[in-house]
Amino acid sequence: MLYRMIKIDFLFFCILAISCQVTSHKVTPYLSNRSSETVPFSPKPKVWAEFQTVKVADWEASLAGLLDLDDPKAKAAGLKDRLEPISIYFYLVKHAKFGTFMIDSGMGENFPKGKDGRLVSSIVESQMHFDKLKIYETTKSYLSKNKIDLKGVFFTHLHLDHTLGAYEIDRSVPFYVGPGEVTSKYFINLFVQGSTNRLLGESPNLVQFDFGKSQNEISVFDFFGDQSFFVLFVPGHTPGSLAFYIPSMEGGHLVLGDSCHTRWGWKEGVTPGAFTTDRKLNRKSLDFLKGLAETHKPKFVYPGHQERISSLEK
Ligand SMILES: [Zn+2]
Repeated sequence: MLYRMIKIDFLFFCILAISCQVTSHKVTPYLSNRSSETVPFSPKPKVWAEFQTVKVADWEASLAGLLDLDDPKAKAAGLKDRLEPISIYFYLVKHAKFGTFMIDSGMGENFPKGKDGRLVSSIVESQMHFDKLKIYETTKSYLSKNKIDLKGVFFTHLHLDHTLGAYEIDRSVPFYVGPGEVTSKYFINLFVQGSTNRLLGESPNLVQFDFGKSQNEISVFDFFGDQSFFVLFVPGHTPGSLAFYIPSMEGGHLVLGDSCHTRWGWKEGVTPGAFTTDRKLNRKSLDFLKGLAETHKPKFVYPGHQERISSLEK
């Protein structure tokens, strides 16, 4: 018995010892004490930020990853694991004074096999169903044909499907991530760290928000300080998962990131499944986002990987 306990302890120690960060690139903290608990009830920025969605690709992913199939609602609906159609998006936030920012990084031209070699390791590639990928836009070509001088990229999180275009972005552009997104250590990162490093590209300007709060605390940050663009810290899917609220005169845009991947998941309030790191915390964050949608009545809600939901839908 004692031998078994020592063995389990040793195994636990080994797992802990080889746990690592999602990327080994250097990260700079963005310290601020300006975060708050929620979005002001009726934000009135002097200038409204413009918001735009760009669909990058269609793809497929496992439903058991996208949705918690053990949730009573998923069971009642008879949902079983299968490949579910999904899309990859990036979003643009255009501010008259501060310029254009991107949310997530789209898809690089050399993907999945680059001129300079493979960006994604074969073990990752085998899990990602790249054969089902149908690409519509690539990042560098989109930014140059639309003459966009990018001022920053916000990552909803650093899972590979959100970093596929990062290596094409100018190295001086800040890559903002949520609290703990880079500095948290997990065993699983052992398998993805090399791919994440290559996708973020050489010496990325990685910046991690730090509000001096507990890692599990939901909070809100008025990024430009003028109520035009709110970064929402919604941990759970990953340690530093982000969502966004962009007010507009017609009712605003709520970008969920992968705190909720699917339209069905949002409508039924069912969290993601196996793709989520901490389901309990993801539940709390999804409830927070649902609450925000009820009070602020956004015109559109954007699940991480499916078509936006209009407030006019039932
Ligand atoms: Zn994703």
